[in-house]
Amino acid sequence: MKLHVPFALQELAKRIPSLYVVGGYVRNAVWRGDIAGTDVDVCGPLTPDEVRSALWDTHYLVLDVNPRIGTVLIKTPDGEYEYTTFRYDSYPIGGAHTPAEVRFVRTIEEDAGRRDFRMNAIYLSAATGEVVDPTGGVADIANRLVRTTRAPSLVFGEDGLRILRLVRFACEMGFAPDAETFETARNMRSQLEDISTERKTAEMERIMLSDTRYGEENAPVKGLQLLQALGCFPLLGLPDKEADLSACGRLPAVLSWRLVALLRALGVEDIRCLVGKGMRFPNYLVKEVSRLLGATRAPDENQPWLWMVEHAADIEAACIIWRAEGNGAYADLVEGEQALLKEKGVPWNYHGLPVTPEQIKEILPPHFVGEALTYLVVEGARRRVALSDEQCLLALAEFKELKKC
Ligand code: ATP
Ligand code: MG
Repeated sequence: MKLHVPFALQELAKRIPSLYVVGGYVRNAVWRGDIAGTDVDVCGPLTPDEVRSALWDTHYLVLDVNPRIGTVLIKTPDGEYEYTTFRYDSYPIGGAHTPAEVRFVRTIEEDAGRRDFRMNAIYLSAATGEVVDPTGGVADIANRLVRTTRAPSLVFGEDGLRILRLVRFACEMGFAPDAETFETARNMRSQLEDISTERKTAEMERIMLSDTRYGEENAPVKGLQLLQALGCFPLLGLPDKEADLSACGRLPAVLSWRLVALLRALGVEDIRCLVGKGMRFPNYLVKEVSRLLGATRAPDENQPWLWMVEHAADIEAACIIWRAEGNGAYADLVEGEQALLKEKGVPWNYHGLPVTPEQIKEILPPHFVGEALTYLVVEGARRRVALSDEQCLLALAEFKELKKC
């Protein structure tokens, strides 16, 4: 089998003997002939120092990435390539990901053994376009299978993150693990305990947005179902329970919305429950998901205006999430209330009130202003009338009385 090699890589191959492209670029070229959106990982038997000497009199730049494991970045006018020396890694006991010992090797066959999946260990000669496939990755792609390069117990035993990579590749591409890979990943899922929350979270985010990678339909739901079937939820801080996770697949690719749908399906009321247990999301995301978890609780049918005042900023997101879940009645209720308040000109936040904070300060002590504004908004929404100046003053008098201020 032969594949096209971009001109810049052919040029680089004139300087670096036995230069191969490997990983996502070759996998995707074999899979669908389309290499868009994939970085170009290259490799060969030369060590970083040997690469540097091979390129010393050219305009290519060679920057250190991780000299210990033989990785450098080669910058050319036409692109950047991460170069990794052929190597074999040996790992300490436990799935900690960091190799205890790295040994540079000279052959593709030896290098393939340290890679995770057969489809990720297909080598494309940059000089000739010839495909070298030491583990049978091309056949796996044809059969839509994800299989480990060596015995799955060895591959997952070395690095537990590979269990999440298995799920991610499977759902992104619409592939499935073969029975042995699946069973072993399931039995060895506790290897994920040794993986940092940051790395687990990064893979989880990619699984949640996996349909955006190659347009595979319903990919996030399939990924979540596979995670669940592998028993990985508790290792990510999620409850291990049967749940309908299909809402995620009906939502647009907005991570916070999909997380909200997942947590709601699993009955998790507070995203902070996950912190420290399995995943660690950035603060902005935790805040947004917390807010939306609050907003998507069932609105009170008898006083929907209360929901409007509390969650008006999230009306669009909440309605989209509810509809994806099949809770369209909540969305109808809230949107109906919004239309009613709009029609009557009733504001659901203090910007629409006829009094300003400055005016309120003349009547009340300054530290009561915020609370008084909320009181006016709630009063207007509850009565479903746009309060006049006069009604505002009366309501403020009531507030003053209530607070004894
Ligand atoms: P993508 O298109 O998502 O970038 P990729 O296969 O190129 O997919 P990378 O994370 O860029 O994935 O890694 C490049 C290659 O390095 C992989 O194809 C695989 O051969 C190897 N690799 C990366 N991470 C691991 C790992 N944790 N264990 C074993 N091999 C790995
Ligand atoms: Mg890559």
